[in-house]
Amino acid sequence: MTVRGLSIKAKLPLLIGGLLVVVTVIYGGAAYQAVRRSSAGAAIARLGTVTDQLAQLLTTSRDQLVAGARAVADSPAVRAYAIRPAADRRGAAEMALRPTGPQSQQVAAVELWGADRHRLLVVGTPEPWADAAGAAALVAHLSPTDSGTVGPFRPVGDSIAYGIAAPVVAGGRLLGYVVQWRRIPSSADLKDQNTGLRRLIGSDAHLFVGNATDDVWTDLVKRAPPPPVDVSKGAGGVLRYERAGAGPVVAASRLVVHTPWVVLLEFPRAVVLAPARQFLTQLTLIGATILLVGLLAAWATSLTLTRPLTRLTRGAEAVAAGDYAQPVVDQPRGDELGRLADAFHVMVTHVRESQQRLEERVRARTRELEERNQELETFAYSISHDLRSPLRAMEGFTHALLEDYGSKLDETGRQHAERVAAAARTMDRLIDDLLAYSQLTRSELDLAPIDLRRVLHGSMQQVEGEVRSRNARVTIADSLPTVVGHGPTLTQVLANLLANGIKFVPAGRTPEVRVRAESRNGGGRVRLWVEDNGIGIAPEHHERIFRVFERLHRSSDYPGTGIGLAIVRKAMERMGGTSGVESQLGQGSRFWIELPRADAD
Ligand code: ADP
Repeated sequence: MTVRGLSIKAKLPLLIGGLLVVVTVIYGGAAYQAVRRSSAGAAIARLGTVTDQLAQLLTTSRDQLVAGARAVADSPAVRAYAIRPAADRRGAAEMALRPTGPQSQQVAAVELWGADRHRLLVVGTPEPWADAAGAAALVAHLSPTDSGTVGPFRPVGDSIAYGIAAPVVAGGRLLGYVVQWRRIPSSADLKDQNTGLRRLIGSDAHLFVGNATDDVWTDLVKRAPPPPVDVSKGAGGVLRYERAGAGPVVAASRLVVHTPWVVLLEFPRAVVLAPARQFLTQLTLIGATILLVGLLAAWATSLTLTRPLTRLTRGAEAVAAGDYAQPVVDQPRGDELGRLADAFHVMVTHVRESQQRLEERVRARTRELEERNQELETFAYSISHDLRSPLRAMEGFTHALLEDYGSKLDETGRQHAERVAAAARTMDRLIDDLLAYSQLTRSELDLAPIDLRRVLHGSMQQVEGEVRSRNARVTIADSLPTVVGHGPTLTQVLANLLANGIKFVPAGRTPEVRVRAESRNGGGRVRLWVEDNGIGIAPEHHERIFRVFERLHRSSDYPGTGIGLAIVRKAMERMGGTSGVESQLGQGSRFWIELPRADAD
């Protein structure tokens, strides 16, 4: 069904629903974008601040570690051993090197190196944490005035180690170096530290620390894979990439001052956009509620509008079908629809009244006409009847004249007398035909099932003389159905058609007439065809010839009265049938009559 075909009752809610959906989607889309932008902005700002703080924190922590190493390097026992590594000084030096304090178990080993870069002493478990080449690189650039330095992260299995070096100086002279090897272990104490961190960065964020050279990374518990983008620049911008196992993330990185380290903080993108998502869910719920309420309201409104309209439509349809009694206004309304219904009601009343007046007038006129018709028919009938006796007398006396006084008349006299007799005969036939026609219009016809073969048999008897005189061939189809009609009238009709089929054939040609039946209207009616090989009729005369006295030829060519086909038409009408012709000039004629089939419903 097209939109135009939809009822107003459905159209109104659809329109309002559609409008609500469009408004909700446009407004909701804009609001969602705004919320998304602002939540992303807030998250990115927080990311930057927290990353800055973390980098600061690591710098402070580095300073503390370096200060700790420097304190060990400055201890007299260490200095003494660095000056002269004698066996009696070793115990005190080892004591001084040994790590103390709460984070001491993070220190895997402490080494004392000489100024000539040879290891003098070691405390703790250097394997696998300590690295000779790493230590050499660490101290390479240390001058006596430096407080110390930290080295890059170094992978040791799943863990990470890094070195802290401080110069051993006495009286401005470089005596050696203290190198501490610390590891980033997965021990329980780290958890406490991490809890503190979590509080700072939030539970959804992930913190990574790695070398600025981007080769080694740790999440402060174990080794971590490097991020898929270059973060070593530590610029203030926001990084967006995909972290294997964590999905898309938003991240920020900072270089840790005075160290070769970079700190990297990641937020899952889903967490950043979570407020926007939540907003979208709420928006969808609110939108659906508004839509539902809107649809219900629109449906209710459309019902109050369409109910009187439907009543009006039904009323109009009833009036169109001829029923003027249907009530249109049942509850008076003050609005436009109410006024329309009132006006419609008044209109229907007017139409009903004028229709009744009109019908009354038509009935009166019809009665009048019927009476006049009756009078006319009676007049025609009595005139025809009265004309007959003088005519018969004329014919009789002409015969008597010819028989009794024929010998006394000359040739011309005899011919005149014969012409008078012929004219009287023609007149007599005319009167016969007119009487038959007028009889047909006056008499009641009782319709009954008629066997067409029996009827045709009767008609053939009537035209026997014509058949014989013209030597005509009449073929009647074997199977003919039974129709509803009036036997004697139908016999007359078919006799007229057969007679014409034989008569209107050029002299010298043997008349051939064929009669056959055909089913019409899905079998409800029978069309009987009477086809000849005669002179044919031009299409413009096909209707005319069915009127009284309409003839296409002179009596001298084809004798006749011009009433035969008028009888056919009138008789068929009176029997509830129809009649017609199909023909072209010079190509024969196909006359037909149509009647209800007797065994049809
Ligand atoms: P009639 O036969 O007495 O002249 P009809 O009313 O039967 O009168 O026919 C009217 C006219 O229709 C005829 O004069 C003739 O011109 C034409 N007509 C009727 N039947 C045929 C036919 N089978 N073939 C040709 N013309 C016909």
